[in-house]
Amino acid sequence: MLKMTGLAKAYITSDIKTQALQPFDLAIGLGEFVSVIGPSGSGKTTFLNIAGLLENHSNGVYELDGQDVSKMSDKQKSAYRNEKIGFVFQSFNLIPELNLYDNIDMPLRYRKFNAKERDERIMKALEQVGLAGRKNHYPTQLSGGQQQRVAIARAIAGSPSVIFADEPTGNLDSKMAQGIMTLLQDINASGTTIIMVTHDNEQAQLAQRIVQIKDGVLSEESPVLTQAIA
Ligand code: ADP
Ligand code: ADP
Repeated sequence: MLKMTGLAKAYITSDIKTQALQPFDLAIGLGEFVSVIGPSGSGKTTFLNIAGLLENHSNGVYELDGQDVSKMSDKQKSAYRNEKIGFVFQSFNLIPELNLYDNIDMPLRYRKFNAKERDERIMKALEQVGLAGRKNHYPTQLSGGQQQRVAIARAIAGSPSVIFADEPTGNLDSKMAQGIMTLLQDINASGTTIIMVTHDNEQAQLAQRIVQIKDGVLSEESPVLTQAIA
């Protein structure tokens, strides 16, 4: 569903050029779970932002579902983002003034769903993350792990084909992080592609594929299957 060929990204600010991503080729198919690892400042967020149509690449070709992204208008890109992509961030990015129900409803309101269909989607998503009983609560009334569950519910309520997660467990303790990883694995098992940036090497091993970025250079490594070492 996602094919990058000779893709590269340079930032130019006041005559200083930062080559954030060196040219690389990468293809990710529907239903895959891919981890992206690498030191801070290596280009992980840049990669995720380009893949998620939040930022433009500077060289090469990026095809999404067979469409050349550089030939898409801004309107087509935002329509694609709304319908096909779910985003999950390290800092949850929930709206504090809205209860959980309305937080999840927010992106659905930009779609063609009627009120009944939105309600069904919100309740199904809340059930899937185990928070159906808290739909009237506000984000600040929840733990970090619960807030991230709401953010995930918001991402899945629109039935995206891919979820981009940038350090989804970065602000959580290890027990909550584990719960979020299990949830992401369940979502992936139901057919949604997941591309996740993580600092946590152990967590990265839960994916089928691991893309490593170092100083803007992409390479792929195989997950270590602990049970296969015997
Ligand atoms: P992470 O993805 O590791 O959580 P960030 O994406 O916030 O971290 O930042 C990673 C690096 O990119 C940092 O060194 C930061 O200073 C740099 N950076 C992020 N945004 C900008 C920007 N708009 N201009 C310049 N540097 C930036
Ligand atoms: P990571 O997510 O791995 O921490 P980033 O993708 O945020 O890394 O950053 C990669 C490189 O690109 C860094 O050198 C950073 O300073 C630079 N960078 C990121 N965003 C910007 C930006 N908007 N303008 C200029 N430089 C940026």
